Amino acid sequence: MGTSEEENLPGKADVVIVGAGIAALALAVELQKKGISTILLERQRSPEGIPRGLTFQPNGLAVLERLGALGRAREVGSASQILEVKSWEGEVLLEADYSLLDHPQNYLLTANATELERLLVYVAEQAGAQVLWGTSFQEIVLNAGRAEGVVYESEGVRDEIRAPVVVGADGPQSHVRTSLGVEVKTKKYPDSFLVGLVGPVPGLEGRARQYQHPGKMLGIMPSGPEATYLFHCVGPRSFDSVKKEGLGSFRAEVVQAAPEMADAFTGVEAWTKMAYFTPSFIQVNKWVGNGIALLGDSAHTFHPHAGQGVNLALEDAVVLAEVIEKCKIAGDFSQTALLEYQTQRKVRADVIGKHANYTVTYALSDNWLIKRLNRRALRKLNKDKKLQKKALEITAGIFEKKPGLVTLAKIGGILP
Ligand SMILES: Cc1cc2nc3c(=O)[nH]c(=O)nc-3n(C[C@H](O)[C@H](O)[C@H](O)COP(=O)(O)OP(=O)(O)OC[C@H]3O[C@@H](n4cnc5c(N)ncnc54)[C@H](O)[C@@H]3O)c2cc1C
Repeated sequence: MGTSEEENLPGKADVVIVGAGIAALALAVELQKKGISTILLERQRSPEGIPRGLTFQPNGLAVLERLGALGRAREVGSASQILEVKSWEGEVLLEADYSLLDHPQNYLLTANATELERLLVYVAEQAGAQVLWGTSFQEIVLNAGRAEGVVYESEGVRDEIRAPVVVGADGPQSHVRTSLGVEVKTKKYPDSFLVGLVGPVPGLEGRARQYQHPGKMLGIMPSGPEATYLFHCVGPRSFDSVKKEGLGSFRAEVVQAAPEMADAFTGVEAWTKMAYFTPSFIQVNKWVGNGIALLGDSAHTFHPHAGQGVNLALEDAVVLAEVIEKCKIAGDFSQTALLEYQTQRKVRADVIGKHANYTVTYALSDNWLIKRLNRRALRKLNKDKKLQKKALEITAGIFEKKPGLVTLAKIGGILP
């Protein structure tokens, strides 16, 4: 049986997005709302990732609201107004109060990352976006130095999609970024983390909690009605060596700092509920090319201690959609035209990335002098609400202008 000519034509869209993570999906929704058609290529077969929670800050929550996804996100996640920092011995060093912020979403929201992705897949598809699951980006189709589409592979078969704009939303190891040939600075952190979703923790309602100690860090955040997101620093140990010590030993390590976690491991019988990762700090000097733009973790990857990766990615998506719309109207998708996106967004990514790098190095240092300074600064922040508000504005991603050195020095760089 012969195939029709229509079936032999390559796929076409206004924008082809590589990846169907949260950044890509948000961009697709925003573009579709503007009548700009999108196709997303995702190498995974469905939105399944490592078992983890994801914390949204006020800046990211504002974008979820804009996408029409905040209501449902609040149903599947948990809101916290207080971010509590405790010492390993249990002393409360700081109760950072998000209600100090002048913002309609003055709270944190933690949810299961996979559920959030499924929700955004639904919103994007409802808006008319097409997600091609199980398709892997291979290369950019170039014509006289301009992107005209991509080649992808699906089940061993190569095919093409034509589009005047290619967006690389393919995460920290972005292949689109490699094709763009930009300068990438990568810093791998020495400490690794185990993350996972465990059972509910009594007394944690409305609170996200972090334990700090030189060389140690433990985060616990309510994440939906029956779950808690756990984020635990295992130092330089490999996943294999933590596994060899056993789940019982890992649980004891967590409970030593956070006795309230004693019953949360019921039902966690296997390591499959936990994931291991080593964070990195990736800085990219150029986010755009002729007909190409990088979005989310492919443009900037921070230490998750900042809790800003996904939030900045969501904001990037809104701005990129606006710039692409302008480019479409002008019929110009050149690097110069797309540069407006980078100009608007890169400064914020630089501020947050550096702040995250500084705060995590400070918080995880095993130097006792730094520990004393850190604690002093946390206590100061606890008392001085004006300063606390300033620190929270950076954490929440809602600062108006780049904070000066004096402000940063006063804050002491302790808040994530
Ligand atoms: C353990 C952990 C905890 C975190 N916690 C937080 C947090 O609490 N708050 C926060 O703001 N941020 C957090 N982050 C960061 C946050 O997860 C990322 O910033 C965010 O998910 C970035 O989204 P993205 O869409 O840019 O990239 P990704 O989510 O990485 O999506 C990229 C997608 O591209 C696909 N892809 C890759 N290569 C190809 C290819 N060749 N072809 C087709 N598809 C491809 C991948 O399969 C993936 O689905 C955390 C990160 C980690 C690792």
